[in-house]
Amino acid sequence: MIVAIDGPSGTGKSSTSKAVAAKLGLSYLDTGAQYRAITWWMISNGIDVDDAEAVADAAGKPVIVSGTDPARPTITVDGVDASGPIRTEEVTSRVSAVSAVPEVRALITELQRTIARSAEGGIVVEGRDIGTTVLPDADLKIFLTASPEARAARRSGELKGADVAATRQALIKRDAADSSRKTSPLAKAGDAVEVDTTELTLDQVIECVVTLVEE
Ligand code: C5P
Repeated sequence: MIVAIDGPSGTGKSSTSKAVAAKLGLSYLDTGAQYRAITWWMISNGIDVDDAEAVADAAGKPVIVSGTDPARPTITVDGVDASGPIRTEEVTSRVSAVSAVPEVRALITELQRTIARSAEGGIVVEGRDIGTTVLPDADLKIFLTASPEARAARRSGELKGADVAATRQALIKRDAADSSRKTSPLAKAGDAVEVDTTELTLDQVIECVVTLVEE
């Protein structure tokens, strides 16, 4: 059983995906964390993330390993725990530029496919292009949406009181970049079920997705 959960930031993808995987005894893969990890490595190694050629040349160097237990997802880069550093504002503001580089996407996509295929008992994979590009044969595809206001409010809550207006602007900018890149942009697969989470609690979204998996 492979479940692909895509959608823009702040729609509840991570919380929903982890909870659904835990409830159903499936593995869990956060593909955004992998793009964040490679971005963190680029910044840490002095590579100009706006120089697509330099990013492409270096893309194969870091070794990124994702742990897929939904109760304790992990991410390491060259053996170093990257779970904290990948959530900084600096990484968040630069990840779209790095993830738009085709060589980066090719490498990370291959990594994602290998993890998904080797997950015993099935996996929930969350991202932006899982249903369209990474795993087009997924058993179930979900596309989560929410109003920009709801998404910004949730993200500000996660960032412990960050300014909602500024968070909203940053989210809109990142989604626009992720949706307009040439290689596998953020997009809803034709056969995905769209769930608008604006008016739903997290528990309601989880229940909705679990019901869809069990159907
Ligand atoms: O999900 P998260 O917000 O952590 O994703 C960080 C970034 O990683 C996204 O803004 C996007 O640029 C990139 N990403 C992607 N494709 C995916 C998952 C994430 O390009 N499947």
